[in-house]
Amino acid sequence: MRQTIIIGSGPAGYTAAIYAARANLAPLVIASSVEFGGELMKTTEVENFPGFPDGIMGPDLMMKMQAQAERFGAEIVYDDVVKLELTGDVKRVHLGNGGVEEALTVIYATGSAYRKLGLDDETRLSGYGVSWCATCDGAFFRDKEIAVVGGGDSAMEEATFLTRFAEKVHVVHRKDALRASAAMQERAFADPKIQFHWNKEVSGIHGDDLVDGVRLTDTVDGSVADLDLSGLFIAIGADPRTHLVHGQLELTAEGTIRVDGRSSRTNLPGVFAAGDVIDPDYKQAATAAGSGVVAALDAEHYLAALPTDLVAAALQPSTGIPSTETNTPVGA
Ligand code: NDP
Repeated sequence: MRQTIIIGSGPAGYTAAIYAARANLAPLVIASSVEFGGELMKTTEVENFPGFPDGIMGPDLMMKMQAQAERFGAEIVYDDVVKLELTGDVKRVHLGNGGVEEALTVIYATGSAYRKLGLDDETRLSGYGVSWCATCDGAFFRDKEIAVVGGGDSAMEEATFLTRFAEKVHVVHRKDALRASAAMQERAFADPKIQFHWNKEVSGIHGDDLVDGVRLTDTVDGSVADLDLSGLFIAIGADPRTHLVHGQLELTAEGTIRVDGRSSRTNLPGVFAAGDVIDPDYKQAATAAGSGVVAALDAEHYLAALPTDLVAAALQPSTGIPSTETNTPVGA
């Protein structure tokens, strides 16, 4: 049995792992089999994470966080959680490989999943011109005409990045004003390769085997027009990934996991949540990292208040937890 298992490997999960590892909790991080590192693995340059005045590429930042967590003794498993049993003193985490891990505390930091437009052809043509990741797929659209849907920071970031490859990038937004930050807006407005389509929704995606166009419906007068293009990047936000805890953890009206005040405590003792999965508003790498700190400290305080025999069971050598000597926090 473990003292703590961290589910998720974005900024919240890895920061929680750094703190938990330095507190000698020998955390096990379940990092996911395909999406380890979280959303920043799919982004380009991160300019607003403190400590990197020249910016840092998203994947580089995540690799550094992982290395920092491992340096202090965190163990990373590249698998998916398929089921959780969170009630009772001992939590059970079922993995995709059939294994079950047990722990006294769980930190749930699963982030959020990209929203879809909800069109039938969106799923059919996913990977064939429809994409949610400019950094992954942008290079396939060299000298092509493409579109980005959305009016937030993600859409502006994707659109600006895609101009490196595409001949022209259409931004399709359902309103007449963007939600993105002023800096992102200014950059996109100044880019001669970007053309904005205001008050328009993508109501259809054309193409037999590959995307060859979209249908735009005007949200004001209902008029319809077709636009020929080769790629459609969807950047309309994300929803918290809570499906594993439905029926166990309380959610808010926004669909995030409910936590107690500024803490990470959920409605179940020993279960803590951090990052985008509890945050309907800010959703920044830096705020997620801070939230991970809170979760690790809350888990540490919870463990300190548990009966000693229970904690001793989690410290058995058979669990593979590094000894205090090998796990001494560096710089503590
Ligand atoms: P947001 O929720 O901020 O924006 C989503 C956008 O998509 C909105 O413009 C919304 O329209 C539009 N939208 C939502 N649903 C639909 C739909 N069904 N059809 C058409 N359009 C739709 O999400 P983001 O992913 O852009 O950003 C999430 C958070 O991450 C924000 O806090 C943002 O600041 C942050 N972020 C920060 C970055 C950075 O600082 N470098 C980079 C990327 C994201 P409407 O405006 O009408 O609601």
